[in-house]
Amino acid sequence: MSTTSSAQQYQVVIVGAGLGGLCLGALLEKANIGYVILERATKVVPLGSSLAVSPSVQALAIQLGIYDELQKHTMEAVECAVVYEDSTRIGSMDFRDTQERAGYPSLIIARCKLHDILASLIPKDKILYGKKVVDIEQADDQPTVTVRCAEGDKFYAEILVGADGAYSGVRQAMYKQLQEAGQLPKEDAEPLSFSHVCVLGTTQPLDTQVWPELLEPTCQFQVMMSKTNTYSWGAFTLPDNTIGWAVSYKLDEEADKESDVFRNAQWGPEGAAQMCNDTRDFPAPYGKGRTLGQLIDATPKDLISKIMLEEKLFTTWYHGRAVLIGDACHKMLPSAGMGANTAIMEATQLANAIFDIENWTPEEITNAFARYRASRYEFAEYACQLSKQFGKIFAGKHLTEGTCPGKSYYEDVGSADDENSAKEKRPNFDMSLIFCFTLRDVY
Ligand SMILES: Cc1cc2nc3c(=O)[nH]c(=O)nc-3n(C[C@H](O)[C@H](O)[C@H](O)COP(=O)(O)OP(=O)(O)OC[C@H]3O[C@@H](n4cnc5c(N)ncnc54)[C@H](O)[C@@H]3O)c2cc1C
Repeated sequence: MSTTSSAQQYQVVIVGAGLGGLCLGALLEKANIGYVILERATKVVPLGSSLAVSPSVQALAIQLGIYDELQKHTMEAVECAVVYEDSTRIGSMDFRDTQERAGYPSLIIARCKLHDILASLIPKDKILYGKKVVDIEQADDQPTVTVRCAEGDKFYAEILVGADGAYSGVRQAMYKQLQEAGQLPKEDAEPLSFSHVCVLGTTQPLDTQVWPELLEPTCQFQVMMSKTNTYSWGAFTLPDNTIGWAVSYKLDEEADKESDVFRNAQWGPEGAAQMCNDTRDFPAPYGKGRTLGQLIDATPKDLISKIMLEEKLFTTWYHGRAVLIGDACHKMLPSAGMGANTAIMEATQLANAIFDIENWTPEEITNAFARYRASRYEFAEYACQLSKQFGKIFAGKHLTEGTCPGKSYYEDVGSADDENSAKEKRPNFDMSLIFCFTLRDVY
């Protein structure tokens, strides 16, 4: 394995300190591989709502030594009830047997907490904030790829990882090179499509007399749908008496094409006020006369995000010394709770592939990237399809179109039980890759 000494040169440069980038950083830290993370945001802002933590990610958390911390901030979800806005029950997703089937329960966490837990595994000087990557340069005869930031800094990397989200600068630069060489598949040249717009946030601690659902020992997870429009909205109770919430609106086909003007590639409050106003009189999940406005008002305005929900699975995941993980190579609707879990598992498989590189030759790097992509692409495709199905289910008008059979996806590549034996071979971050649920009732 090569070493590098220059302050600006690293074995691995990771672009993006989101969940995928942080997880990869944490794994490279354990594997003692030199790396730095470049993040365009100037500081961490606790944006976002809640995320599901899949059994696979829990197995990884054990291997990373963060499971106890994770448990402190999660609640088990046993069911997601789906109801109309008058609280008539439509059906549910049942997670009760996840523990039995997958070895771990279904857990829900605020995104910002998971972000903090992963960031705690990385020395502070290895995440550089205020570094927006705008271009990369690489050539076959060069031993490194050059990474340029808007702020004028340059970094050199033997491997560059684009973990920089749906509008990945690394992907754009990589695809430009491929396009110039006539090597970019046509479908990858097409822009991301988006059909949903969403506002979301996590409240401050709430009064349990007003929100008695917070006293329940499990996460109260409910999705509401309108019978008359394509809004759907949901909430999850979280530890610390907070509630993560989200409102999603499915655009119609015409608006779809024209709504480029709404495009907001960065998570944040820009433009959120209008959609909050439009939806504040909706009944809050859990019913009992409360409104969505109560959850909105209990969330600091600057911590409410409005975001377009894009969908696209890119087929080209690597080129030369650059490789993509997470939303940078596939953007899926959040409806099935797969985005963060998929990004984290890709970080894991990429860390394994990088760890196995011995001489860091271009051929070895390419082979490592190929193994990584082969191990993940099929699941990413499945996750994108499933998320689309769930998006339809939650968009109300498409109940029959959205019918989705209960399905589990198992890829048995080891589990936490294998931890000890696996450790003898290498710092093994493999895990069982499982997603399971049962749809009940009337879908
Ligand atoms: C602030 C925030 C809040 C979110 N909240 C939710 C939520 O509540 N529910 C949900 O389902 N999903 C949420 N997501 C998305 C979800 O985290 C991702 O879909 C999933 O975790 C995949 O993660 P990722 O690491 O691939 O991308 P992301 O989590 O999107 O992380 C990408 C990171 O790259 C950084 N970045 C982007 N471009 C550049 C650049 N050119 N140079 C340097 N850095 C760059 C971004 O600032 C970001 O930190 C949120 C994402 C963010 C960034």
